[in-house]
Amino acid sequence: MTDRRSILKASLLAPALLARPASAATGPAGIQMKLPCVVSTWPFGVAANKAAWTVLSKGGRALDAVETGVKIPEADMKNHTVGRAGYPDRDGHVTLDACIMDEHGNAGSVAAMEFIAHPISVARAVMEKTPHVMLAGEGATQFAIEQGFKREELLTPESKKAWQEWLKTAKYKPEANIETKSYGLGVPGGAKNHDTIGMLAIDAKGNLSGACTTSGMAWKVRGRVGDSPIIGAGLYVDNEVGGATSTGVGEEVMRSVGSFLVVELMRQGMSPQAACKAAVERILKKNPGAKTEQVGYLAINKKGEVGAWAIQKGFSYSLCDQTSQDRIVPGQAFFEATPGN
Ligand code: ASP
Repeated sequence: MTDRRSILKASLLAPALLARPASAATGPAGIQMKLPCVVSTWPFGVAANKAAWTVLSKGGRALDAVETGVKIPEADMKNHTVGRAGYPDRDGHVTLDACIMDEHGNAGSVAAMEFIAHPISVARAVMEKTPHVMLAGEGATQFAIEQGFKREELLTPESKKAWQEWLKTAKYKPEANIETKSYGLGVPGGAKNHDTIGMLAIDAKGNLSGACTTSGMAWKVRGRVGDSPIIGAGLYVDNEVGGATSTGVGEEVMRSVGSFLVVELMRQGMSPQAACKAAVERILKKNPGAKTEQVGYLAINKKGEVGAWAIQKGFSYSLCDQTSQDRIVPGQAFFEATPGN
């Protein structure tokens, strides 16, 4: 039996994961950046941010900065979760996802694209040279080649070896936090099958842009597309409010249109950190089982205040402005990292 008193009592005892009015969740203030600035997911964001900074520090446009920045991990042959050397799907095909958004709300995206090393630049070409937002699969590759991008085999000998090793057991289990682990910041372990670079920049004019690029989940079902190329899921930018991006198990982010949610919560007055936390709560409320997975959100508001939140410890992000170009910050989280993750 529930009466008014027991409902009140229950609500007082309710854990943070239960619903609450958006206005109540003010939360911690996060980190204040000096403008211009650029922030991105994971420690591999440091090198990417530095490349973006070469554009921003000369008064360049945030859009150029984020494209330049994320091309660094896309080209990194040691990075098996983004771009050129990404691990393949279960059938041995490397398929890449990316999207980009500018200060006017323009957006471009490619999904499940093969044979092109820099999906972010193809996404930008979709935005600037077609009337569309998203191209997928063979059509995306065809468009890229028409635009002068080089067609190349992306499956490296190392990736092929890792895939053949995986085929021996062929178990599909997303493993989190590889980027933090490989920089010795997280839980030790050898997992390495997904992570994304999401980058957000504010230029000297105060304009915002964002980019997001990944090879998605290693060993995924052929044709699987995650959150990263989906505008509103893996990335969202609104020049009046701020921007958000995500990394982790894309299926969880897509079901809650996570990055759009973070930006809309900031529009209602939440700090970036509180908005990221609330978006992670939304995932866990709908699917408590998601606590064994990883999702991390990173957000910045128009004033250059940055926040982040993740399901599990181990997520980290990189910050760059005039004061410091290589700062790595561990993300706050609801849970300890799942062993093996
Ligand atoms: N969000 C990416 C995807 O689901 C993977 C990751 O960032 O870990 O494709």
